[in-house]
Amino acid sequence: MLPKWHIFYGALFTLFLWIIAPTIKIIDLALIFLASFLIDIDHYLCAVFDTKKMSLKNALNYYEEIKIRTTEERRKGIRKKGNFHLFHTIEFHVLIAMLGIFWLPFLYVFIGMVFHSLLDLFYMSKRDYLYHREFFFVNWLMNIYANKKSQKAYKSLSQQNKSRSP
Ligand SMILES: [Zn+2]
Repeated sequence: MLPKWHIFYGALFTLFLWIIAPTIKIIDLALIFLASFLIDIDHYLCAVFDTKKMSLKNALNYYEEIKIRTTEERRKGIRKKGNFHLFHTIEFHVLIAMLGIFWLPFLYVFIGMVFHSLLDLFYMSKRDYLYHREFFFVNWLMNIYANKKSQKAYKSLSQQNKSRSP
């Protein structure tokens, strides 16, 4: 979902909370609102890391290209995960919730994040894109480990083959 829609729905959600619970402090409402779209900073950082360009427009174009590529791949039956986005993982949500137990502002950040993630889930499941996201940090780490291991095995196998050939 595009950031502009997250900002729009985040504002509506914050307004709704303010109406049903007018005693919430403005600063806490601001935290909910900001968290409801700033969690996407991980998408931006990923784009900057991959393209070495800082502009937001470039990041949006980067994801537009990924969207086109993913749609093309899906048409061919290829369904693989996209970039890893740390702030969108279950573990990161749990971490913020736990911090919220000790320091209340994090609880408001957590509420905004959960609202954002629910919107993402709804958007992705409607378009059958749930497979594209890695939801678990631990899975991502295990995949890196498994990839490194198989690369090592491949290297040693090809070296063995080289030494065998006359
Ligand atoms: Zn998101």
